[in-house]
Amino acid sequence: MDTDVKRIVVIGAGFAGLWSALGAARKLDELRVPGDQVEVAVINGTPYHSIRVRNYEQPLDDTLVPLDDVLDPAGVRRILGKVNSIDLQNRRVGFESGDAPGQSLGYDRLILAAGSELVRPAIPGLREFSFDVDTFQGAARLQAHLLELPGRPESPGRFTVVVVGAGLTGIELAAELPARLRSIIGESHGNAIRVILADRSPKIGQAMGGAQPVIEEALVAQGVELLPRVSLEAVTRDGVQFTGGEHIDTATVVWCGGMRANPLTAQFPVTPDPFGRVPVDAFLRVDNVPNVFAAGDCARILIDGERPSVMSCQHGRPMGRYAGHNAVCDLLGLDMLPLAIDWYTTILDLGPWGAVYTEGWERRLASQGAAAKQTKRTINCERIYPPRNGKREDIFAAAAPVVQAPPYTVREKN
Ligand SMILES: Cc1cc2nc3c(=O)[nH]c(=O)nc-3n(C[C@H](O)[C@H](O)[C@H](O)COP(=O)(O)OP(=O)(O)OC[C@H]3O[C@@H](n4cnc5c(N)ncnc54)[C@H](O)[C@@H]3O)c2cc1C
Repeated sequence: MDTDVKRIVVIGAGFAGLWSALGAARKLDELRVPGDQVEVAVINGTPYHSIRVRNYEQPLDDTLVPLDDVLDPAGVRRILGKVNSIDLQNRRVGFESGDAPGQSLGYDRLILAAGSELVRPAIPGLREFSFDVDTFQGAARLQAHLLELPGRPESPGRFTVVVVGAGLTGIELAAELPARLRSIIGESHGNAIRVILADRSPKIGQAMGGAQPVIEEALVAQGVELLPRVSLEAVTRDGVQFTGGEHIDTATVVWCGGMRANPLTAQFPVTPDPFGRVPVDAFLRVDNVPNVFAAGDCARILIDGERPSVMSCQHGRPMGRYAGHNAVCDLLGLDMLPLAIDWYTTILDLGPWGAVYTEGWERRLASQGAAAKQTKRTINCERIYPPRNGKREDIFAAAAPVVQAPPYTVREKN
């Protein structure tokens, strides 16, 4: 360490990292430990907490929460920087900040919460010619491109958008696009709009259990063309090629091919899971790595004691609150709290048609249409935001290590 001050360092300020930092600050406040004895510091690549789950929407104006609005009242130190190394032996993280490379910071407890990134396989043209909604910047770039389309010379695929990957992100984006394109292009050119959702699985929404037929119905009702059983072979500036020879003229390909844990996880001497996540125990401690916790998309916990956590803000936020709490307890020799969540829901936006809400790991249909949409709006616009009133007591109340009840919805009548 640099001084006698003990330090908890959090890498990342997304859903897991922000709540890790606030969870740690809350526990220190409860224990009346002053900031000159234990410091909580967050290193994040941007000055914002990005409400990443909303990147399929437009506009995105309200999706970047200035970190200082939340961290300052909680007494958490914010460092703008990109972490590039973790020295487990000497307990230091290395990072670069703006034009200042080669910085480092010592830690007594470390919480890795650097999230995940879109998987980008080596498909010809994918990196050069496709768009994504994985990050705020990616989503803004896509929107800027769509806004330019009406000014382009006519071409066969000018108003065709091909979304590749029909996981939750791909479905939510495809369901939004017909109405979004109409608002950009105008109803007069409405007939020229095509939105195609392609996936290699036999059915679009295959993994969505009881919601699968609802998803198909909603997409088709909004004019989305479904293209299952295809695999992306190549992307060019003006088209897309699938295996089996299918070629589609398009000016816009959006890749939604799934997420993989941040590459920083490779710095740990553990066996990662297939998503690159490091295994953590019920207290969020990385297996066999002393003094290090992990939360969110970087970490794999058995969330109900049996099933692995899902890369989601649904799991990332509570993982963060518990990781922060437990890092303080571990540092001060207090009992830690195990995290266990005995419910799982999926609430999928289906554009102007509505949404669908499922319960349980097998995804039983609980609500759909306008009722589920209301729940989705409450989640996206309220539930997952930190308090933004600058009040320390509200921020600490939200950071307590408790498991929330599932989101409320008006249920289907059986
Ligand atoms: C379009 C879209 C829709 C989604 N919809 C849902 C949904 O409906 N429900 C749901 O539960 N989940 C959803 N997800 C998934 C969800 O967004 C992620 O699971 C969640 O963001 C994970 O939280 P996290 O804190 O682990 O990572 P992130 O939110 O990705 O945050 C990681 C943070 O770490 C920072 N960072 C990364 N690398 C470094 C570094 N080297 N140094 C410093 N800082 C770094 C980043 O800047 C970021 O602030 C969706 C994702 C997308 C893209």
